[in-house]
Amino acid sequence: MTHANTSAARRRESILRAAVRQGLLGPDHAVLAAFVDLDGVAASVRALHTAFPDSVSVLHTFAAKANCLVPVLRELRALGMGCEAAGAGELAQALAAGFAPDHIVLDSPAKTRAELARALELGVAVNADSFQELDRIEGILTRRPSSSRIGVRLNPQVGGGDIAAMSTATATSKFGVALDDDGNRRRLLDAYRARPWLTWVHAHVGSQGCSLDLMAEGVARAVDFADEVGRTLGRPVTGIDIGGGLPVDFEGDDPPPGFDAYVRRLQDRVPRLFGGAYRIVTEFGRSLLAKNGFTAALVEYTKTSGGRRVAITHAGAQVAARTVFMPSAWPLRITAHGPDGGPRTGEPVPQDIAGPCCFAGDLLASARPLPPLAPGDIVALLDTGAYYSSTPFHYNSLPDPAVHGVRVGPGGEVVFEPLRRAETLDDVLARTGG
Ligand SMILES: *Cc1c(COP(=O)(O)O)cnc(C)c1O
Repeated sequence: MTHANTSAARRRESILRAAVRQGLLGPDHAVLAAFVDLDGVAASVRALHTAFPDSVSVLHTFAAKANCLVPVLRELRALGMGCEAAGAGELAQALAAGFAPDHIVLDSPAKTRAELARALELGVAVNADSFQELDRIEGILTRRPSSSRIGVRLNPQVGGGDIAAMSTATATSKFGVALDDDGNRRRLLDAYRARPWLTWVHAHVGSQGCSLDLMAEGVARAVDFADEVGRTLGRPVTGIDIGGGLPVDFEGDDPPPGFDAYVRRLQDRVPRLFGGAYRIVTEFGRSLLAKNGFTAALVEYTKTSGGRRVAITHAGAQVAARTVFMPSAWPLRITAHGPDGGPRTGEPVPQDIAGPCCFAGDLLASARPLPPLAPGDIVALLDTGAYYSSTPFHYNSLPDPAVHGVRVGPGGEVVFEPLRRAETLDDVLARTGG
């Protein structure tokens, strides 16, 4: 893992030094903080927009679960994105961030009648996850028409990627209508025939661990089905929501295959998608935010245990649940810094990087070679802008850390803005009935 001298590493280091200087991180007040590089987010959004050909109508929505902080969503809206919400909470966040309802897509396998009624009343796009949900939508629409774009989430059943828990297009996935199950194609065609308001098709193959080929295959099957609806019913499907899921490289700072590569793959495998017959919606999350954030924690103590060096830090399962519970699926790069945020030097030695939670498995890394850490040092967990500090796990009643937005001016000046304030102990008591 080479990261010491890349420009991304230099940028992180200058952010970290500035955070220490400006009192956002330090032993007495803030032992844990997260940072989102808003310049980086803007660059990622630009890369997404320019990857798709101008000749097609595309609405790029951001999957709110990847980073649900309202100021982050507001920033993405200002950059021209829509928002994908999975439930009442994310819908509320999307509306609070100012997204127009027709720029919001509601996807959830468990939408309640009340959530559906609200979305349809607002004009939020809805992707139905099941035949039962379609029946509910029909019930609501007979009482009150809606301007919402409504589709069905198909499970194209193309199989899983490297991480089973993230693979949504397996044969038995809980998501969507399983396209190849006995009788489902016919039932789907009947549903599109009987329900003229059903005009979209949705597929989302997985989230991290799926290859570009697997994702493109899922989209191809969704487009095939949309074509079939058009041919069979003589009524074209309006648009295809291709989901998100572009994987992120958690191993280095070199740019991984990005939106360009994915669009080229789609153009090869499913040219019909770009033929002008369909509008397109996308729902990327991790690929827009993950590499644009990191989490920094103070080392409180160090010890050796059974001959192994252990650094007890303030970042554990509460901000890195996936890494702690599924370490081989979600390894994170960790960099070592002195108290001023500058790089720690020294011959790397294997160390366990532990969190503050009271269970033995609360480790961010085991036997990770890093320069020897000492109390007061800082560890940074890289690539944690999505699905990490923005969605904490409330184990041990640890307070949620502050999340700071960062922009770097032309002269290198680092400017922070609050995205989420740190929870106080009163906040913790309030959410625990105190
Ligand atoms: C999680 C999710 C996404 C975003 O996935 P990423 O891997 O973060 O791009 C998009 N659509 C749906 C339906 C999802 O569940």
